[in-house]
Amino acid sequence: MTNIHATAAQMADSLAKKEFSAVELTQAHLDRIAEVDGKVNAFLHVDSQGALSQAKSVDEKRAAGEKLSPLAGIPLALKDILAQEGVPTTAGSKILQGWRPPYDATVVAKLKAAGVVILGKTNMDEFAMGSSTENSAYGTTQNPWDLTRTPGGSSGGSAAAVAAFEAPLAIGTDTGGSIRQPAALTGIVGVKPTYGGVSRYGVVAYSSSLDQVGPFGRTVLDSALLHEAIAGHDERDSTSINAPVPQVVTAAKKLDVKGMKIGVIKELSGAGFQAGVSERINEALDLLVEAGAQIVEVSCPNFEYALAAYYLIAPSEASSNLARFDSMRYGLRVGDDGSKGAEEVMSITREAGFGKEVKRRIILGTYALSSGYYDAYYGSAQKVRTLVKQDFEKAFEKVDVLVSPVTPTTAFKIGEKSNDPVAMYLSDIATIPVNMAGIGGMSLPVGLAKEDGLPVGLQIMAPVMQDDRFYRVGGTLEAALLSKWGKPILSNAPELGGK
Ligand code: GLN
Repeated sequence: MTNIHATAAQMADSLAKKEFSAVELTQAHLDRIAEVDGKVNAFLHVDSQGALSQAKSVDEKRAAGEKLSPLAGIPLALKDILAQEGVPTTAGSKILQGWRPPYDATVVAKLKAAGVVILGKTNMDEFAMGSSTENSAYGTTQNPWDLTRTPGGSSGGSAAAVAAFEAPLAIGTDTGGSIRQPAALTGIVGVKPTYGGVSRYGVVAYSSSLDQVGPFGRTVLDSALLHEAIAGHDERDSTSINAPVPQVVTAAKKLDVKGMKIGVIKELSGAGFQAGVSERINEALDLLVEAGAQIVEVSCPNFEYALAAYYLIAPSEASSNLARFDSMRYGLRVGDDGSKGAEEVMSITREAGFGKEVKRRIILGTYALSSGYYDAYYGSAQKVRTLVKQDFEKAFEKVDVLVSPVTPTTAFKIGEKSNDPVAMYLSDIATIPVNMAGIGGMSLPVGLAKEDGLPVGLQIMAPVMQDDRFYRVGGTLEAALLSKWGKPILSNAPELGGK
């Protein structure tokens, strides 16, 4: 019997033992999507046929005795920002409606080669700009823990799909927190790998110097398995790092932190964080001390300016990247009735095709890059970026990993921040420095806040290409928490089906 509540590693084990087939496992997840996605709205497109045929081919290969990769036959939800050949890809925007990419992103090609079964494309904030999925042109995603709340964003659909047992694994992208923040808000594991650790080829570009693809799973090991399946050098991405992939699966299984030094970032604790969030974080740190780690307080004085600098750099890059949506090359074209010139059609299409937040960012970015203002805004922001990077480098001279809460609060209500961009931007105050420095970080669920019973995420950060360190710490802490709770955190979430 298939069990959609199992971990991906357990599912893979069952598949290898032929307890059930990949087709049965895929069908069980498609059934679950049909049952609950009307409430959650995690998916923009479900590719039942494609998924079942991929599963069938894995079953055939297994029957023929072929050697398969560890995740062969495991279903996965794909953020709709990655190009998948022949499958609608919108990046949550109306301007890409109807676009079916003629090629696979490198990550998608790697997933297919590994026999991973892609169930469909998940909802997201338009062009990954947001922290709640409310900026999607296709309606918001609901948090499986409480359908009146957001699952976070921008990869909210991917996180919600995993938390609602619609998929055991998902892919997201993280420019300023878009994997770690929704993971925290839905009680799952999410990882932003080191910048350059995973290829960006075929990923719709938001802010190219910050964007990074990464895994979601319900456990640290599941995330590690997916991380290794997608990571590695890619000639088609000029920023991809040509170095061995960190051994994150081994690290996730190590379950030992003796002698490790863990730095608590002073500027990302205490004031400004919900009391129930800080409480769970502190308990988690106590468990790490019991497991033999040493806690040290470190200061990163320039983090204070990271959010402001991010909101100059990211919109600047976006204003340039989004110039390609010109009504000629992709998707939507409006007003082309033969009476207008190309420029006018372009302008009418961009007016109709982009949402409010995207327009706000294009205007902001264009302004920040304009001659006369460039040095004052973009130039200063780049200097802050260097200072943030130096803060991390100094901190990592003293400790092996750094920790902080992922988010200032637990999941907020749908509509609560949607008319207040600055309040929304503040959701990523603790995650943005990681992207600015190009390092990696994990969000690990560490319990439920006492005020509202909603999940809290601990952020664990490591130096460039040392991603194995946060898998080691995360895996150890996860095991300690599980033995304390006696059951996985998601067993506290409401059962959405069958009603
Ligand atoms: N919320 C941040 C933004 O809107 C980060 C989004 C992301 O990581 N893609 O830019």
